[in-house]
Amino acid sequence: LQPLPRPANTRVMVVANQKGGVGKTTTTVNIAAALAQLGAKVLVVDLDPQGNASTALGIEHHADVPSIYDVLIERYSMEEIVQPVEDIPGLYCAPATIDLAGAEIELVSMVARESRLQRALQVYHDTMDYILIDCPPSLGLLTVNALVAGKEVLIPIQCEYYALEGLTQLLRNIELVRAHLNTDLRISTILLTMYDARTRLASQVADEVRTHFPAEVISTAIPRSVRISEAPSYSQTVMTYDPASTGALAYREAAREIAERYSQVPGQRGAESANS
Ligand code: ADP
Ligand code: MG
Repeated sequence: LQPLPRPANTRVMVVANQKGGVGKTTTTVNIAAALAQLGAKVLVVDLDPQGNASTALGIEHHADVPSIYDVLIERYSMEEIVQPVEDIPGLYCAPATIDLAGAEIELVSMVARESRLQRALQVYHDTMDYILIDCPPSLGLLTVNALVAGKEVLIPIQCEYYALEGLTQLLRNIELVRAHLNTDLRISTILLTMYDARTRLASQVADEVRTHFPAEVISTAIPRSVRISEAPSYSQTVMTYDPASTGALAYREAAREIAERYSQVPGQRGAESANS
């Protein structure tokens, strides 16, 4: 295996699209797992009250587990809540519990309500290679917290009719956050998901997305794959559930592309390999 280029600074990637079911969570956990398996040190922040990313990574997230809610609302430190992911060295998860559903409202009256996640994540800058934030399917204060904490936005787009609908709103919010709260933010990556090469519609949608975002769409598309959709029910990513499946190969390829696109610094950053 070719070693992965390590980023010069921690890459904080916000996985966002306010449409539900487009592959945000699946992309977050599988790209994170693939990057970690290729030697990177990676943190997944589950910012969806559903806790699907926590489930897929096999992380406990029942009501009593210290979670990202406690960080945002109760001022816990990230170190008090982050758990290592079993079977994937170098991969960590900040779980979400159902409490997080209330945070959207509770944050409204809080000081620095848009930047609480950004502040909390600072402890990991320069120890993690990647931080991937899995957003809920809405554009409320949780997603705003993610956009303020992030440097890059990764937008998964499902290759079906209406794929671009609703994207305008996301782009407008990203613009607003960039203008007022986080000038560094940019859309770095668009990933086509659930791509079915046999249908004409999928390739038409893919063409349309590539025309709109020629620089952002990465060349690897994620195919529709039963193995990808089965993995979470075994509390696994497809990267461990069936590492030789087409879905795992595609996510590994996409992860490598993401790593190679913006991590220009070759070799290792930091003292030791994430896998040791
Ligand atoms: P979101 O987080 O945007 O709501 P999910 O990642 O939860 O979307 O995906 C929605 C559903 O589609 C889930 O049941 C997931 O298992 C399934 N899914 C996602 N990507 C694929 C894929 N490439 N092939 C097959 N099923 C997929
Ligand atoms: Mg999700």
